[in-house]
Amino acid sequence: MSVVVELEQVQQFYGKLQVLHDMSWQLQAGEIMGLFGHNGAGKTTTVRLILGLIRQSGGKVRVLGGDASDAQVRQQIGFLPENVMFYPQLTGYETLSHFARLKGADHSQVLGLLEQVGLTAAAGERVKTYSKGMRQRLGLAQALLARPKLLLLDEPTVGLDPIATIELYRLIGQLRDEGSSIIICSHVLPGVEPYIDKAVILARGHLEAVGNLQQLREQAGLPVRIRING
Ligand code: ATP
Repeated sequence: MSVVVELEQVQQFYGKLQVLHDMSWQLQAGEIMGLFGHNGAGKTTTVRLILGLIRQSGGKVRVLGGDASDAQVRQQIGFLPENVMFYPQLTGYETLSHFARLKGADHSQVLGLLEQVGLTAAAGERVKTYSKGMRQRLGLAQALLARPKLLLLDEPTVGLDPIATIELYRLIGQLRDEGSSIIICSHVLPGVEPYIDKAVILARGHLEAVGNLQQLREQAGLPVRIRING
């Protein structure tokens, strides 16, 4: 199994403030990993490093076998931000066509992606009529345009009702089964548990725990505070 993302002894400073301390973990190909932690734990900083938006102050960040700042690596990453913004007046089809042009992606994928995320019937409707779940699925289709090998999803289910949440995770699971490697950032572990292969738990910039859920539970006697939502 190949390594898709590798952090080795990563340190990050903003000025004099150290926000990541000796962070080491790996994402293997075909895994869904949850990146968990309270506000300020270092999740967004970690995402910025993987997206090559900032350079680590110390240690190594390897993404898809290359340097995170390499444009060729960046092109292979799909990113769904927490609050993806769309033009409300455009239809779902027009929105995805627009992003395909912007990204230089193959336009012939647009209809297939709309189908994949369950939006074929609504493709001609304006995005302003979409539910939050439909907008997240459109965001996912947008993130998939460049046929990414790695998907980064920031709080993908915030504000979704339980059914839309299950639908979105089912879709994310399908993407994993088709070969994508996926990182989901979230404040909360409960609810996400059934859908992830592995969790990385951050606390104030330190790696608090890493492993599959069974390993995390086995570590529960150690300083592993899985109650990160309260
Ligand atoms: P949240 O869930 O609130 O987004 P997070 O886990 O994503 O939190 P980060 O945004 O990575 O955490 O923040 C980690 C620490 O770094 C926090 O103390 C934050 O205040 C600080 N920080 C983040 N970005 C900057 C910046 N550009 N300049 C200075 N400090 C920053």
